[in-house]
Amino acid sequence: MEKILIGGKEFSLEIKRKSMRSLRLRLKEKNKIEISTSWITPKILIKKFLSDNREWILNQNEKLKHKKRLSNIKKITILGESYEVETKKSSRDSLVIIDKKIFVNYSEKSKIKQIIDKKMRILALRLIKENVKRLANKYDLDYVKVSVKNQSSRFGSCSHSGSLNFNWQIILLPVEIFEHIILHELTHLTVRNHSKSFWELLAHYDNNWHKNNLWLKREGTKKFIV
Ligand SMILES: [Zn+2]
Repeated sequence: MEKILIGGKEFSLEIKRKSMRSLRLRLKEKNKIEISTSWITPKILIKKFLSDNREWILNQNEKLKHKKRLSNIKKITILGESYEVETKKSSRDSLVIIDKKIFVNYSEKSKIKQIIDKKMRILALRLIKENVKRLANKYDLDYVKVSVKNQSSRFGSCSHSGSLNFNWQIILLPVEIFEHIILHELTHLTVRNHSKSFWELLAHYDNNWHKNNLWLKREGTKKFIV
């Protein structure tokens, strides 16, 4: 995917060529443009089309930014289970999960992110601990302890002493990806680096490791909410 500048902002551009005559422009998500066009449309025409539609692109992009605001979140998926989210102004900040609903009460809209981050982290630690224990038992692996953080760019890590650390937001990913991340870190208990033997051992625990790893690189952080 190539990068282009529109109105001083960097966008990634994906060109899909198919049997069609016209040119279609779509903003897939924030800062991501998709163009569908014929097999023969020259690049220079595509660039002109983009520059002619500059205002529209910038406007749509702003809208997409706002869409992601936490106060507009209606649904959160935790380990493959969907939860409805209800946000409400209140005198105190809280987050409660009852059945398939997450109730977020906030004193100020700007605090929603903080509330979700703090409360969901506690739930995430419990879920991650349970699953680490289960998978470590299954493969007879010994770890020291499990903790959670919110490092937006990393999914997990394993220290030399055998402590495992995870980004709490991995509970928002599909179950097989969640398990893949745990198995990746558990594999580091035996092989510290990412050498050939690391991937071979991981493949033993996770048959779909390659597919899962690719998915994670492409989609992983898109599912994160804070
Ligand atoms: Zn690793």
